[in-house]
Amino acid sequence: MSTTSRKCVALIAHDRKKEELTQWVGLNVGTLSAHRLVATKTTASVLLKELDEAALDIISVASGPMGGDQQIGAMIVEGKIDALIFFTDPLSPHPHDVDVKALTRLATVYDIPMACSKATANLIIASGYL
Ligand code: PGA
Repeated sequence: MSTTSRKCVALIAHDRKKEELTQWVGLNVGTLSAHRLVATKTTASVLLKELDEAALDIISVASGPMGGDQQIGAMIVEGKIDALIFFTDPLSPHPHDVDVKALTRLATVYDIPMACSKATANLIIASGYL
């Protein structure tokens, strides 16, 4: 059970991981609905299409390949992001690989809890941080 106030959670999934992230958000909607969510454009539209729109307070930024990862990185620098859930696809090439690296680097620099796969995302939920 969360003992903390409303946080802002960034949600991103590479294309081949969007279904997995959607399932994960669906399973954890009770926890996530207590927080503000920010997502890259396509990830946000998939989540809002597949899940209960009313339960999710999602702000959308640009699509990842069009600078959305960098926007979320800037939000981390500004202290606006409390956790990053980024289901990356390590088995496909991405034109914006450098942006992904920059985003995960900033999450580390600013010591933001970050999950790049379901197992770690589950641990963040289980920790009660959110
Ligand atoms: P998208 O971006 O949600 O717009 O697909 C995610 C990414 O690939 O960084």
